[in-house]
Amino acid sequence: MSRFYLTTAIDYANGEPHIGHAYEKIGADAIARYHRLRGDQVQFLTGLDEHGQKVAQAAADRGVSPQQFVDDIASRFQTMWQRLGVSYDRFIRTTESGHKRGVRALIERIHERNPDDFYEQSYEGWYCVGCELFKRDNEIVDGRCVLHPTRTLEWTTERNWFFRLSRYQSFIKKLFDERPDFLCPETRRNEILSLLDQGLEDISITRSRLAWAIPFPLRTSTGEEQGTWVWFDALPNYLTATGFPDAGYDTRWPAQLHVIGKDITRLHCVIWPAMLHSAGLPLPERVWAHGFVLLSGERFSKSAGVRLDLDEAIGRYGADALRYFLLREVPFDADGSFSFERFDDRYTADLANSLGNLASRAIAMVEKYCDGVVPAAAPGALDAADAADLAAYHASADGARGYLLQDALAAVMRCVSRGNEFVQSSQPWALAKDPSRRGELEAVLAAIVRQLARHALYLAPFMPQKAQELWTQLGGPETVSAQRFAATNTLDVTGWRVTKGAPLFPKPPS
Ligand SMILES: [Zn+2]
Repeated sequence: MSRFYLTTAIDYANGEPHIGHAYEKIGADAIARYHRLRGDQVQFLTGLDEHGQKVAQAAADRGVSPQQFVDDIASRFQTMWQRLGVSYDRFIRTTESGHKRGVRALIERIHERNPDDFYEQSYEGWYCVGCELFKRDNEIVDGRCVLHPTRTLEWTTERNWFFRLSRYQSFIKKLFDERPDFLCPETRRNEILSLLDQGLEDISITRSRLAWAIPFPLRTSTGEEQGTWVWFDALPNYLTATGFPDAGYDTRWPAQLHVIGKDITRLHCVIWPAMLHSAGLPLPERVWAHGFVLLSGERFSKSAGVRLDLDEAIGRYGADALRYFLLREVPFDADGSFSFERFDDRYTADLANSLGNLASRAIAMVEKYCDGVVPAAAPGALDAADAADLAAYHASADGARGYLLQDALAAVMRCVSRGNEFVQSSQPWALAKDPSRRGELEAVLAAIVRQLARHALYLAPFMPQKAQELWTQLGGPETVSAQRFAATNTLDVTGWRVTKGAPLFPKPPS
């Protein structure tokens, strides 16, 4: 059994979960569920980034303590992920005592091994509270951060602790040369390569007067205790969630995959590997940077003021339909748009008319012609025709050439279309009128049920609840999530007792 530890970015706790957060969690969840169906030992981590100036400000605006504020936000995020079927094994919060202890241990470990990696220096520059970063000139347009055009940059002068990132320039370059798939997709990798060409600068990793932070373990020469920069606190969550520094953490670290947004690749693919290397710890195996969900061409984010109510999106057709739509419509390697018009179209065409219709017809025919019991029949032409699409599904979802989840879904939906065409062309209702063709009828019905059982399994990472409903209606054993991809080829549906249930995807009132 292979170990597969994957993580999402931890969301910043200064507002409600939005569709941009949801897209990443759903995508990572599909990958986690895919690996469970392969039989891997999956550990799926998500969580919340709860320190920093923005959180303190948001709490003050609401007139509550920062801890009360993040407790409330954390429960909102967890409730939302549960509604959306995000099957995380662990939800980490950076205000947990174990995390704080782990961050301190990591910083102390860096300090012991490479004392020169931390140094004090006065620093001044334009600071973006949105990024929690000092911005370079080429990241500022019209006096504002390009990522946060609604925020005002602050000219900040401080004496802080620095991390000697510049020392890791050749290490990071070598990492990218030796492990071309460390960061995917390719466009994101190229961005980091060009950043490396510009040369890495040391980074300020503490903040003076920052109360809502993990205290930096080293005091300044003037005896001041400063707050740890939020990213130096947040990035180690992937490590502290394994129990670091306690015994046994190294059986869970490194992570096989970090799933993140394309805007934080520098943090995950330059700063984080440098921190780990400085501490003498192994690097994560891969980083996948997805794009953004756009609404009318704008990114979903709190700071951009672009909003779409997640409750409304879930309320439209349920959580699984939203999961399907987002992962089918927004390519996991690029940006894509959300619109309710497209959502309605996809729901009706793909789910109600194609998949839902195939399932309800097949079940109705097995009930009508075979008393609800699936007849015996060997695999045939339909199974053979699906094989190439099922191979394409795995190639798109297993990570070998990236996580092109939209292509994996497209492959299953091609099989669904083929199933509907098969029903049309083989006309079981005509075969049923001719007793001499009983064998043909049984072969056709068994083939359709066998194909639907595969659809349930292959769609389970994307629509876990609907996949289970379909599996139950088909009379499949145990649960769909207890099945394994490896057994698909020998899947025998003979004797399954189908049950007509509620429509999987009721047609919307027109
Ligand atoms: Zn910014």
